[in-house]
Amino acid sequence: MADEKTLFSRIADGDLPAEILHRDEHCFVIKDISPQAPTHLLVIPIKPIPRLVDATLADRALLGHLLWVAGDIAKRAGCGEAFRLVINNGAGAGQTVFHLHLHVLGNTQFNEASLLG
Ligand code: 5GP
Repeated sequence: MADEKTLFSRIADGDLPAEILHRDEHCFVIKDISPQAPTHLLVIPIKPIPRLVDATLADRALLGHLLWVAGDIAKRAGCGEAFRLVINNGAGAGQTVFHLHLHVLGNTQFNEASLLG
């Protein structure tokens, strides 16, 4: 039977190499392999929820935890007061890995007038 694990589950399980910057019982954080800012981290739940819209009410606490970890790791990465969190939901929004993740982007100059880049 084909391996149905997501890319990020394979990283979480150690099947694929990645530097894990944070890990707890609910999530882990890695550097994006193709960074779009000097700091570009991914906060990933261990539970392989495909997209944000696939999360259920039972995932509320997990979603809150991911947000807290994102803020904490941004602080620890020296992002100061200016960082951005992005969740791409669906292929039309640019999602390529169908295992929920938050992008943490920082240590760069943001165009304050635009959320799109
Ligand atoms: P999405 O486009 O789904 O919102 O984001 C997926 C992200 O995962 C992309 O920014 C991409 O660069 C990153 N990515 C894809 N494959 C790997 C990988 O094998 N290792 C790491 N660390 N990041 C990856």
